[in-house]
Amino acid sequence: MPIVSFLKAACSLFLPPLCLGCEKHLEMDEKWVCKTCFLELVGNSTVAIRLFRASGQDLQVRYVTEYTPLVARLITSFKYCDRPGLVELLSLLLFSRLKGFLTGNMLLAPVPMHAAKLRERGYNQSELLCSRVSGLTGLAFRPDVLIKRAQTPSQVKLERHRRVRNLHGKLEANPHAPIEGRHIVIIDDVVTTGATLQECARALLARGARKVSACVVASSL
Ligand SMILES: [Zn+2]
Repeated sequence: MPIVSFLKAACSLFLPPLCLGCEKHLEMDEKWVCKTCFLELVGNSTVAIRLFRASGQDLQVRYVTEYTPLVARLITSFKYCDRPGLVELLSLLLFSRLKGFLTGNMLLAPVPMHAAKLRERGYNQSELLCSRVSGLTGLAFRPDVLIKRAQTPSQVKLERHRRVRNLHGKLEANPHAPIEGRHIVIIDDVVTTGATLQECARALLARGARKVSACVVASSL
């Protein structure tokens, strides 16, 4: 183990963890965030919809919070700081607001991650959320409904038109997944321009999906 990782691990044995929102020391009954940040998170949550188009159909993207500084810190920790356990908090937030929508015969699907990126990060945050939301709702979930064949540069720093071109044709719907005639709901952490979700929807509609929607934690513009 490198010395820095060793020291970090050793420190975390003795120091109480810090709130990911305000960096206050957490009480024994608090996890990830302190009570004040938790109340802020829940108090600011809502149900809102952004509407996109894909292959001539509406693509409704439901989200439960704006990308506030607190939400940004949580999602950044979840995605980039090796804290997959945050899926607990984020999936509960999503479920508590969207359980009325997440019913029936929907099939939940994550946004796919290329194998090389998956090896680097160790987990696909979209798949973790999807799996947890499936557990909470009882809705069917398959991790391989969509496949990412080619590795694409990160979308984060690209302009919108470049994002679309960056992804075009690189996401595919799995021909072996039960997509035809189904309402597929993509679960992810953040919607920004919507380009990734639109590309997912196009691929699924091309394979015969009846409808595609998405549920994400936060909307960032
Ligand atoms: Zn806090």
